[in-house]
Amino acid sequence: MHVFFPLPNTGASVYNTITLYRDSQFFPGELMMGTMATCSFERCSRKAWKPVAGEQPFCIFHSQKVDEKRDEFEKAWNEFLRDTRDSEGKLFNLSCRGFIIPINVNFSSEQFSGHTYFNFTSFTGHTYFNDAKFTGHIYFNSALFSGKTYFTNTTFPGKIYFNNAVFFGETSFKNAHFLWDAYFNSTQFKGETSFSDAEFSGETLFESTTFFQNVDFEHVVFSKSAHFSKTVFREEGFFTGSHFLGVDMSNSLFINCSFKNVRKNTHYNLKPIRWEKPEVWWQVWKYRKRSKPIPPTSFANIDTRGILAA
Ligand SMILES: [Zn+2]
Repeated sequence: MHVFFPLPNTGASVYNTITLYRDSQFFPGELMMGTMATCSFERCSRKAWKPVAGEQPFCIFHSQKVDEKRDEFEKAWNEFLRDTRDSEGKLFNLSCRGFIIPINVNFSSEQFSGHTYFNFTSFTGHTYFNDAKFTGHIYFNSALFSGKTYFTNTTFPGKIYFNNAVFFGETSFKNAHFLWDAYFNSTQFKGETSFSDAEFSGETLFESTTFFQNVDFEHVVFSKSAHFSKTVFREEGFFTGSHFLGVDMSNSLFINCSFKNVRKNTHYNLKPIRWEKPEVWWQVWKYRKRSKPIPPTSFANIDTRGILAA
């Protein structure tokens, strides 16, 4: 059992931790004096920010008191970023895991070195990574983007992870360059989303991803593989002019995709896609016709209403 109480002469902002041993080793009156309260977020050892008796202590970065901490956060945030920069001014191994960021974040044209960690980060305002350049892997798993989010012209040379992330606002990855694998599994795009003119050079996974509003994949180049397995398109999905260059089509899946709100011959016009192996389409129809089990290497089970087959 942890009890927090204010020390009498140090003001309300400093608390000490007392651990009471309640098991067989408990002796009445024996108190273990602990250290000053630290953040209870996993692996964070920062000082607790305005801890309150009876509440879990968190540092200013992990505190959920978005409105209350905003002013102080900005100062701490700028200091944190300054301390993270290497001799070339790049943000080295930036780790914002689980941060709850109460302000707009502008990383446009920033350069990141090492790996970059934003797992479980909550961006409560708008987020800008336009023209940003990374080096290593980039982690945004389970991140929350509450406002508008822009990764326009951003270059991702390492693997990029957006698994289970949620984008609540308008989201743009226009002209982004994914030079290695890109993971968007179970990601939720609640606002209008665009990947137009993006380039995916590695494995690209949108498995179980949900696009709640229109999504634009126009003029996108998939150079290696594209997985759209169990992807849900709740509104319109545009693939006009997309190229699946040199892709082994056996790796490109549109299995069990849900194309909702389809109006005949108007949406999901996949015809302009330049399939390197158009016989895949033929296989789809062939298998559907014969009602045979569909091999996992086709566009089987796609809801083809409204799709103009090549
Ligand atoms: Zn913390």
